[in-house]
Amino acid sequence: MRKKIVAGNWKCNTTIQEGIELAKAVNELVVTTGAKDVVVVLGTPFTHLTSVVAAVDSTRVGVAAQNCAAEAKGAFTGEVSAAMVKSTGAEFVILGHSERREYYGETSATLNKKVALALANGLTPIYCCGEALSVREANEQNAYVKTQLEETIFNLSAEDFSKLAIAYEPIWAIGTGVTASTAQAQEMLAFIRGLIAEKFGKAVAEETSILYGGSCNAKNANELFAQPDIDGGLIGGASLKAEDFLPIINAY
Ligand code: PEP
Repeated sequence: MRKKIVAGNWKCNTTIQEGIELAKAVNELVVTTGAKDVVVVLGTPFTHLTSVVAAVDSTRVGVAAQNCAAEAKGAFTGEVSAAMVKSTGAEFVILGHSERREYYGETSATLNKKVALALANGLTPIYCCGEALSVREANEQNAYVKTQLEETIFNLSAEDFSKLAIAYEPIWAIGTGVTASTAQAQEMLAFIRGLIAEKFGKAVAEETSILYGGSCNAKNANELFAQPDIDGGLIGGASLKAEDFLPIINAY
């Protein structure tokens, strides 16, 4: 059965001390009252990875970087490689977040390299896709997301593809308080699963965890996660307080 994943994306928030406190608080709640069949992931800044890995029970809480370099190593000042991320004990890496595409010019070509390096270093990519409001208003979201997938992860072997998770995050829903309706989210995730089935076969499609992200919170997570194709969430704002994050983890 495919995994249910609830992943927090802390973005550029928390000092290292605050991050450790937050991780400990989430860990405590997950260990004592968290749903056992949900994979919980904390997406922290690079600087926090080692400390957060040390602060949590790795059998219940995983740790993710929010990015990695497109090159393996070398003269790339300021970059953090997939191997470096892996060496912290983190197991996941969020790739292709719309904020990275928009503010840091990440293209499909860059993402191809990042996904390949993440996989080669034993990290699980949480690959993000999703359309802007103008694309949704033109009702072109399916074609848009299909192209994103084709250009970045559909060129993988079925074996490599089956190691990653996908997060559909409509840009108009990220940090806006506007959530995609349950029907919109389910429709897109079913569409993505159908594309995976066409490309890699039904068995791979059935095993791929596809998450929804975009203003997901304790109030709407229950309804979203009840949908047949929604295997969890990528959570921004609501992952920054343990007491907001736990109800989302327990929304199944
Ligand atoms: C995100 O940035 O991945 C996200 C889903 O943010 P928020 O939950 O704050 O909309």
